[in-house]
Amino acid sequence: MTDSLLNDRDLKFQLYEVLDIEALLERPRYAEHDRAVFDSVLDTAHDLAKHYFAPHNQKGDAEEPVFEDGRVRLIPETKTAWDAFADAGFLAAHHDAEDGGMQLPEVVLRACMAYFNAANVSTTAYPFLTIGAANLVKSFAAPELRERFLPPMMDGRFSGTMALTEPGQGSALGDIRTTAKPAEDGSYRLFGQKMFISGGDHELTENIVHMVLARIEGAPAGAKGISLFLVPKVLVNSDGELGARNDVALAGLLHKMGYRNTTSTVLSFGEGDGAVGYLVGKPHHGLAYMFQMMNEARIGVGLGAATLAYQSYVHALSYARERPQGRLPSSKDPLSKQVRIIQHADVRRLLLMQKAYAEGSLSLCLYATSLAEDARTAPDPEQARQAGELLDLLTPMVKSYPSRYGVIASDLAIQVLGGAGYTREYLLEQFYRDNRLNPIHEGTEGIQAIDLLGRKLGRAVAKATHCS
Ligand SMILES: Cc1cc2nc3c(=O)[nH]c(=O)nc-3n(C[C@H](O)[C@H](O)[C@H](O)COP(=O)(O)OP(=O)(O)OC[C@H]3O[C@@H](n4cnc5c(N)ncnc54)[C@H](O)[C@@H]3O)c2cc1C
Repeated sequence: MTDSLLNDRDLKFQLYEVLDIEALLERPRYAEHDRAVFDSVLDTAHDLAKHYFAPHNQKGDAEEPVFEDGRVRLIPETKTAWDAFADAGFLAAHHDAEDGGMQLPEVVLRACMAYFNAANVSTTAYPFLTIGAANLVKSFAAPELRERFLPPMMDGRFSGTMALTEPGQGSALGDIRTTAKPAEDGSYRLFGQKMFISGGDHELTENIVHMVLARIEGAPAGAKGISLFLVPKVLVNSDGELGARNDVALAGLLHKMGYRNTTSTVLSFGEGDGAVGYLVGKPHHGLAYMFQMMNEARIGVGLGAATLAYQSYVHALSYARERPQGRLPSSKDPLSKQVRIIQHADVRRLLLMQKAYAEGSLSLCLYATSLAEDARTAPDPEQARQAGELLDLLTPMVKSYPSRYGVIASDLAIQVLGGAGYTREYLLEQFYRDNRLNPIHEGTEGIQAIDLLGRKLGRAVAKATHCS
């Protein structure tokens, strides 16, 4: 088998030759960097992914998290990986230097995440969610809240979640029922249950910051009545010291087909006097704010699916190069040496399909992150606007295409290995199970189709017609 995660040459071809990320160095924000910095960050990510994430990928799958005596137990390698990721500065990589970040382009950070995802998608979910939650705090939280919660989310003391789904409400987020009652001190008390919350409980960090969608009492019905709250697992005093445990309880863990080393939790808010929550931004604008994290996560899901497809492909390729079986149709001598299966036309077909799905998906996702980069930092406002609009239109496809064809690539990779692919001795069946989540979470495939055809294409066509 192979110990390769992603082909460095492929990734660098995408970054430097297709997306020309060296041109970013001309932007004032990145003037302090050079290509050697980008290369060294990418190499560090590859190295950490290989040494701290990949080795426990199978173990995390076999020994899934358990809920015992009120605590969640994960395999200890998960914490070592989290610490390595945080200590290398990846949680803060894209943040401003003056805030303690590395001020790296978004597209470089996401290319680094491709290595971590390829190594171990379940363990990578913890930093992935934390980066998204921290971005939300940074964009929309009031300065006092930001100062209290952002630094520990950037240095790895606190992790983050997105808490949208409820037992009764998944795709239809406008119908969520968790309620928030105003308290005298200006904070809120939350009551309700959230389900499927990834990373919702664990002991990797001293605190967990839940970004929760809830409805303030008396709010209008539907999406226009939803607000966003920051609800910590442990309360944090104004001096940054940890205080009492908040009224957020783990009701149970869900047992999944794949992605097993990511805890999947049911959380109860307000079993007692109510979970203390802090309003983020304006009341009733919560869903719009949360879309920042959801859109980032949609690109991230696409990237995760693409890298799982890529991993499936490199494992299948490596096996096909080694496994002798049968002879070519042109060889009639039963005593002649068997060929490696890569020489069979049908196996080549299976491999080429995987390669096309994996590399095409990776390319699409990196292109999307380069649009996100341009939308944020392009010096020409028109270029920034156009990049933002194109990204908005493409996001449902960036989420859906790799998710759907990534699973197919993992399936084809199993086929290349034959019976061996169906055994747990090889990683392929795990890649398939892990990848099967991607068309479901962060908006199912059906929901992405409604977003693309029902909203975004209509808007784009109307705009184009108006302009012409
Ligand atoms: C492993 C895992 C991790 C997750 N992590 C998180 C997390 O961290 N935070 C979080 O908040 N949530 C999380 N989720 C929840 C996830 O986002 C939801 O499962 C997903 O949005 C679908 O919701 P649902 O499961 O309730 O399915 P439903 O909404 O009940 O959908 C069921 C089916 O009906 C279809 N459908 C629904 N509505 C429509 C419609 N209007 N038109 C056409 N078809 C429709 C769907 O496409 C789907 O095929 C996670 C889920 C899983 C499985």
